[in-house]
Amino acid sequence: MPANVLAVLTAPDVGGRTSEPFRFVDPDGAVLQVRDLAATRGDGVFETMGVGAGRAQAVDAHLARLARSAAMLELPEPDEAAWRAATVAVAERLAEHAEAFVKLVYTRGVEGTGRPTGWVLGSPSPDHAAARTTGIDVVVLDRGLAHDSAAELPWLLQGAKTLSYAVNMAALREAKRRGADDALFVSSDGFLLEGPTSNLLLRRGDRLLTPATSLGILAGTTQAEAFEFGRAQGLTVAYEVLTREALDEADALWLLSSVRNAAPVRAVDGVARPVDAEFTARLNAHLLARRA
Ligand code: PLP
Repeated sequence: MPANVLAVLTAPDVGGRTSEPFRFVDPDGAVLQVRDLAATRGDGVFETMGVGAGRAQAVDAHLARLARSAAMLELPEPDEAAWRAATVAVAERLAEHAEAFVKLVYTRGVEGTGRPTGWVLGSPSPDHAAARTTGIDVVVLDRGLAHDSAAELPWLLQGAKTLSYAVNMAALREAKRRGADDALFVSSDGFLLEGPTSNLLLRRGDRLLTPATSLGILAGTTQAEAFEFGRAQGLTVAYEVLTREALDEADALWLLSSVRNAAPVRAVDGVARPVDAEFTARLNAHLLARRA
């Protein structure tokens, strides 16, 4: 069974379209040049999507977001057909794994060349069973920006999925230091945002809620699918501007992300929260069965 599968895009942007859109290469070999702006500046964007038995999930939504993130960074428009072909081919090579994931990375390229770099790396997924059932402990961390700053400060690239995730990783380490599993960012003025690698979902009565993307958070593909699922169950769904108190008022909370899917939150800052095991199990079954 292959552990990692790597495809390098021949020309990841529309300007360089070729007949051979990608080639498989040794994932342990030397592929990335040290002067690539991904390595020196974290200057690029990425996507991570789940793969179930060799089929990549929510490909359309992820490719659309890759293009949106690229536009926010003023990168050349990605060649959607090339990325799709590479993604599908890498996912197929992981067919023996019940759950795997692919990571698409699109960078500004080797400094001075003006040519972007792109690759798709596939790997088997870690076991997320405990997070999906028992749940996760979460701490609330201040992201240090006002909830309405995204439109005024576009150079901060809020809402783009950039390669500059050192801050997000530091937030996860801080959560671990505090004895928790994950973090939830709030704005400096007390509004709920997102996790370092996830979106927040709340259920209040028969309503499913998530913080509005106008708050400078990533538009989650898993969250969008959870809303579809909720609607089909007869729930009302809404994007809202929510304060920290909404966490205490919720009947159930989840952090949502591709690959881990729905992780119920069983405690916030050490205070126990109710877990809806039955709804969570059905939501995760739905998310695992996602198609392109
Ligand atoms: N928010 C951030 C900051 C993320 O990094 C991610 C995913 O990694 C998400 C939200 C969830 O997005 P998705 O459900 O599309 O994986």
